[in-house]
Amino acid sequence: MIRFVSLGPGDPELITVKGLHALQKADVIFCPATAHKSSEEGPVSFSSRAAEIVQALGIEQKHISLFHVPMSRDREAARRAYDQLAVEVCRARRKRMEVVVVAEGDAGFYSSIHYLFDKLQANQIEVELIAGVPAFIAAGATAGLHIVKQTERLLVIPGTATAYELISQVKEGQVVVIMKLSACQAAVRTCIATHPEFLYYYFEQVGTKEELCVTDPAQLMSMSFPYFSLLIIRKPEEKR
Ligand code: SAH
Repeated sequence: MIRFVSLGPGDPELITVKGLHALQKADVIFCPATAHKSSEEGPVSFSSRAAEIVQALGIEQKHISLFHVPMSRDREAARRAYDQLAVEVCRARRKRMEVVVVAEGDAGFYSSIHYLFDKLQANQIEVELIAGVPAFIAAGATAGLHIVKQTERLLVIPGTATAYELISQVKEGQVVVIMKLSACQAAVRTCIATHPEFLYYYFEQVGTKEELCVTDPAQLMSMSFPYFSLLIIRKPEEKR
């Protein structure tokens, strides 16, 4: 059985008990890592927020194995990286090791790890997905926000939205969560500029020391949104 463990968005305490037990039992834990280059020719170094969370939970480094998936729009490169990871995962499994693959937030929510999950499943390898706290749920909690109330509807979208779509959906009364916000900076600015009366809750690096929450539309207009950011937009509530 290969277990896919959701780590939550950054705060190590936001993992589930089930997820923690799976990590504690694992012989090898595959963690996604990001590549950094100090200059064009310089050496590549890797950092892994996922590995930091795993270590903060008391798991020894010797159980951690990093894998790198290119984040470019070229999904072919990512697919090749996951094919390679599938080979490593199967090798560890043949040695009868307890194998865990981790993902930040919830592993079944906008997580590219599904390539690997689907591939293993297609090859009749037993897989299990252990649920976790997605970033937007943790974000709402840190701000004391009740994301949706009573009969309200929630729409979660990636950063492919146009300004027109955002505005019409919020006007319709939907609460909109934008993931991968860095991909739709211009659309968000148009929405803020034309509808400063909407309520904006911007979150960056939720669950880490760098966590930031901004609700002032004017401040949001001057910001640039990094990869680990999301935005919740809603219409002001009507007074009864
Ligand atoms: N599986 C993750 C989502 C991965 S998609 C989850 O369940 O939350 C990556 C996007 O998630 C980022 O572009 C960002 O919009 C959001 N995200 C993930 N972690 C975040 C964090 N700690 N703070 C803010 N946004 C985060």
